[in-house]
Amino acid sequence: MLNAAGKRALIRVDFNVPLDSEYNITDDTRILAAVPTIKKVLADGGSAILMSHLGRPLKEKLPDGSLDVQKFTLRHIVPHLSEVLGVDVRFCPETVGPKARALAESLQPGDVILLENTRFAAGEEKGDETFAKQLAELGDVYINDAFGTAHRAHASTAVMAQYFAPAEKSFGFLMDKEVVSANKVLHNPERPLTAIVGGAKVSDKILLLDRLLDSVDNLIIGGGMAYTFAKAQGGNIGNSICEVDKTDLALELLQKGRDKGVNIYLPTDNKIADGFSNDAATRFAATGSIPDGWEGLDIGPESIEAFGKVVLASKTILWNGPMGVFEFENFAHGTKAMAEYVAQATKNGAYSLIGGGDSVAAVNQMGLADDVSHASTGGGAMLEYLEGKILPGIAAIQE
Ligand code: AMP
Repeated sequence: MLNAAGKRALIRVDFNVPLDSEYNITDDTRILAAVPTIKKVLADGGSAILMSHLGRPLKEKLPDGSLDVQKFTLRHIVPHLSEVLGVDVRFCPETVGPKARALAESLQPGDVILLENTRFAAGEEKGDETFAKQLAELGDVYINDAFGTAHRAHASTAVMAQYFAPAEKSFGFLMDKEVVSANKVLHNPERPLTAIVGGAKVSDKILLLDRLLDSVDNLIIGGGMAYTFAKAQGGNIGNSICEVDKTDLALELLQKGRDKGVNIYLPTDNKIADGFSNDAATRFAATGSIPDGWEGLDIGPESIEAFGKVVLASKTILWNGPMGVFEFENFAHGTKAMAEYVAQATKNGAYSLIGGGDSVAAVNQMGLADDVSHASTGGGAMLEYLEGKILPGIAAIQE
């Protein structure tokens, strides 16, 4: 990260936190995640101009067509942010404009201001250069620490970087950790490298699966998407979630795995239910033998044990997507067990990256976030990075 001594550092953070109906922050993970970078700037002897979006204010306007400022203002964040930083954060009710300029000019080393929601400006999501330039002119250096939006070519996440010379821009600590973690898995893994991919649909993960088959030693497939593979192999899947138009693709992916010498592990047994509900009746069924009227909502004990053995023998692990409908307590067992195996493997010396929204939620829920090497803060961004795409927010810093 750059040295901000004597500089006004424009820091793009991700303060898109969940709020309750009275605008209390219900999960401050993202705020806490940005603190080390902000503190580093202040410790260098710089000042911080924080930029973030909150929600989608242009998509949820008031009936008269105006912005719902009360709902989407970043002012909600100021008290908690001041507390965790130990600094009185000043709020600027504009994102750009004369007030923002005046506040920016008044900054002394150690000061922090928070600009109003970047998405109040129509130019933000469009990546408008005029808006990006106005933002850039508020500071001397630019730090991007918002990995969660790195896959968007928005004004504050990517476009404004062009107004800074290479030495005047850098990743923050969080963004750096995300990129280093993903690169370690993608380009420099200690082997065996195992990917665990789950979640609802094959279609959401096609690119990921295809890319992973080029590099992994083991691929574990669980969650809803496993039923498309079971169907493709001619099994009975009852009412389990399935994308019938993706069965050919599933067979192609399996063939690619064989061609590349990848060990592919699919569930051999399933916890099935007579409805999509936590209270449904349950039993276990072998893969391919799910009776009509029943659906697979979790992997079964045999699969858990088999997957666990592979995970524990791995030196690098990437996990994206839950093994079942983990939102229902009765079908969270497979996902929880995998989280425990990944934590155990990490304790034994493996490197583990939890690279997706729902698997990160599961690891957090279980209090295991500190027991894995890295739990990514950016679901969509991490997925795209792992698919091999160039993310605008990363490219803009690395140019
Ligand atoms: P994704 O966002 O693609 O990682 O998918 C996560 C979602 O997949 C979660 O909401 C899970 O409830 C869902 N899911 C996982 N396994 C199943 C399953 N067997 N049947 C239906 N949905 C599932």
